[in-house]
Amino acid sequence: MDLRFTPEELAFRDEVRQFFRTEIPAEIRRKVSEGRGLAREDYVTSQRILNAKGWAVPHWPKQWGGQDWTPIQRYIFTEEMLLAAVPLPQQFNCYMVGPVIAAFGSQAQKQRHLARIANLEDWWCQGFSEPGAGSDLASLKTKAVREGDHYIVDGQKTWTTLGQYADWIFCLVRTDPSAKKQAGISFLLIDMKTPGISLRPIITLEGRHEVNEVFFDQVRVPVENLVGEENKGWDYAKFLLANERTGIARIGLSKERMARIRRLAKEMPAGEGTMWEDRDFRARFASVEIELKALEITQMRVVAAQARDPGKPDPASSILKIKGSQLQQATTELLLEVAGPFALPAPERSGDLINDWPFAHDWADAAAASYFNNRKVSIYGGSNEIQKNIIAKAVLGL
Ligand SMILES: Cc1cc2nc3c(=O)[nH]c(=O)nc-3n(C[C@H](O)[C@H](O)[C@H](O)COP(=O)(O)OP(=O)(O)OC[C@H]3O[C@@H](n4cnc5c(N)ncnc54)[C@H](O)[C@@H]3O)c2cc1C
Repeated sequence: MDLRFTPEELAFRDEVRQFFRTEIPAEIRRKVSEGRGLAREDYVTSQRILNAKGWAVPHWPKQWGGQDWTPIQRYIFTEEMLLAAVPLPQQFNCYMVGPVIAAFGSQAQKQRHLARIANLEDWWCQGFSEPGAGSDLASLKTKAVREGDHYIVDGQKTWTTLGQYADWIFCLVRTDPSAKKQAGISFLLIDMKTPGISLRPIITLEGRHEVNEVFFDQVRVPVENLVGEENKGWDYAKFLLANERTGIARIGLSKERMARIRRLAKEMPAGEGTMWEDRDFRARFASVEIELKALEITQMRVVAAQARDPGKPDPASSILKIKGSQLQQATTELLLEVAGPFALPAPERSGDLINDWPFAHDWADAAAASYFNNRKVSIYGGSNEIQKNIIAKAVLGL
């Protein structure tokens, strides 16, 4: 198998690389690179620049703003975006609800939502998980009861990422409690301003507000907000989750972080020299770099298989998810090691804290937050244990 890019693919790579590094504001890219939280406006600014170029939703059907790219071009596009520390297009909009509406929504839903989703006019969040329904999602309990032209929704969702920014939420709800678990579920689009919806922040390890609990109390949702057919929501959710796992290895992100670690280790004093001169540190660095290279080659093989047989779901993507998330976590560990005590947060940049000026490094206080935040990557998008179950069944045939 030839894993090298063709001259056309290399030209495409140079074009997107140039665009990301010149058109997306450096300040937004710096925040991404340092693992700092982004404001809603940062996501909006970046996505609108991409959308104006026709690149916010390249994987959508052409009619709704997609590009006729090959799987290899899509791979290059995403990797270059991560390498340039550009925020990915808003995931819930562009990789989840948008493709579902384009594939299964009514014409009215497509007209109303798709362009606004691509341009981040509306911010969407994902209401799938519930307390007691994460890995075993089909046991979800939030119910929607039909009453005339409305569904009345009652229940609770949890871990709702950036729900505090959201205008809309797409939910899996139980519409037929008597049916077998997966069979009685529907896919509903719900306006977050509807009376009866309330949101409670969950503060994560690093002290940020990134996830939420969302409560529904007698929420009236127009029947026209049902996607596709009633009780067929599980089929649409499976389609959506397959999209969610695409590119989840985030190799470009880990490569970008490794390049930073190498640069910062060469500046960080240690003993008589710098961190980079510490053989043990360099051995740990090299071992992560080798694994990353191996993962990149595996990812290229999966992409090449997709290019030969488009549309066929590949259970090997579970291998990418496991290894990719482990390496994302390993890179945050290395960065934390380079930052050392400077990674301790210094909220008041004053006084005599060890990490205060003139000793502090302006990147270092984000290292611990990024380390803690990245514990999530082996849980969301299907936990690594669940991915191992998939590999056991679908790859190894056990
Ligand atoms: C930061 C973050 C953001 C998230 N954002 C969203 C969001 O926006 N919207 C949304 O709907 N959800 C979101 N999720 C939820 C996420 O999808 C679930 O956390 C995930 O599916 C795991 O479910 P759970 O938390 O209920 O854990 P459980 O399913 O209770 O699992 C607990 C542990 O048991 C293991 N386990 C469970 N079942 C098996 C099994 N069959 N075999 C082996 N091991 C098993 C799991 O791997 C895990 O280690 C988010 C989660 C996190 C952490």
